[in-house]
Amino acid sequence: MTSLLEQPEAPSRPPRPSRRRFWARRALVIGIAVSLVMAVVGLVDRLTTPNTTDVAARPSPTSLPRVATPTDDATSTTSTPTTAAPAAAPGGATEGAPAPETVPPSGGAAPVLTPGLTVAPLQAAGKPVPVVHRVLTFDPVVFITIDDGVTQDPAVAEYLRANDIPVTMFLTEQYMRGGLPFFRSMQAGGAGVAAHSVSHLSLSGKDPATQIREVCEPAADYARDFATPVRYFRPPYGNYDDTTLSAAAGCGMKAVVHWSATLEDAKLQTASGGPLRAGDIVLLHFKPSLLGDLQFLMGQLQALGLRPALLERYLDAANVAP
Ligand SMILES: [Zn+2]
Repeated sequence: MTSLLEQPEAPSRPPRPSRRRFWARRALVIGIAVSLVMAVVGLVDRLTTPNTTDVAARPSPTSLPRVATPTDDATSTTSTPTTAAPAAAPGGATEGAPAPETVPPSGGAAPVLTPGLTVAPLQAAGKPVPVVHRVLTFDPVVFITIDDGVTQDPAVAEYLRANDIPVTMFLTEQYMRGGLPFFRSMQAGGAGVAAHSVSHLSLSGKDPATQIREVCEPAADYARDFATPVRYFRPPYGNYDDTTLSAAAGCGMKAVVHWSATLEDAKLQTASGGPLRAGDIVLLHFKPSLLGDLQFLMGQLQALGLRPALLERYLDAANVAP
C-alpha cells in the first residue's frame, strides 16, 4: 500500500515534468505569439515604411525634373540666343536706354520747343509742306529710319526693343501687308510708323490722282492698322515734285522726309562726306543685313557721342515756318 501509496508519490513526480512541459509549451506559445506580433508589427512597419520611402522617392522624381529644368532653361536659352544674343551687342544698351538730355543751345539758333529737346522750325519755303533732310538740333541725336518692309526679321524687333532704340518705319503698303503682325511688334517696341507709298512707285512726274493714291492711301490704312495718325511721308527713291507735296498736305502730312545719310552692309555714307552729325537722318532698309547694320550704327554713334532719338518726337515739336 505504502508502495501503492508511495506509488502515487511516484506518479506525483511526473507532473513536474508535465508542468515543465506546460510552462515550456506556454513559453513556446508566448514566444510564438510574441514573434507573431513582432512579425505583424514588422509587416506593418514595412507597409508603412514603403509609403514613406515612396513619398521620399517622389521628391527624387521631382528632383529629376529639377535636374531637367536647367536643361529646359538651357534649351530655352539656346532658342532665345538667336534673338537675345544680338541684344547683348556692344554699345546697344548704353546708347539706346538713356532718357533725352537737355543740351542748352549755345548760339540760340534752335529754340527749345519741348522740355528735353531742341529743334529749329521746319522750313516750308513756300511749299505745301516742308521737305526735311536733316533736323536742326543742338541735341547729340541722330534719327534712324527704316524703309520698305520686305524682310521681316524678328531678331531686329527684339534687338531694338531690348536696347530701347527708337526708329521710324517708312512702310511701303504692299510689303507691309505681308507682315502686319511683325510691324505691329516693332511698333509695340517703340518704333514710329510713317508712309512710303502703296507700291514704291517713283512719284515725280506722275498725275495727281496716282500721287494722291500713293501718298494718302497708306496714311489712312496705317491710321487704322496701327491705331496712330500718320504725319510723315517719304517718297520712294526720294523722287518727288510739287504734286507730291500737295498730295501730302492734302491728307494731313506735316512734312515730307528725305535723309542725310545711308547705311547698307556696314557702308555708311553721309551727305556731308564726313562722320555722322547731330540731326542726321539715317536711311536703312528692311533687308537681311538690317540687324548687322543697326549694330554697326550703334557702335558708330557710341564712338561719336551720339544717340538715336525718335524722329517724330522732334518733327512734332518743330513749328513750321512758311
Ligand atoms: Zn523705299
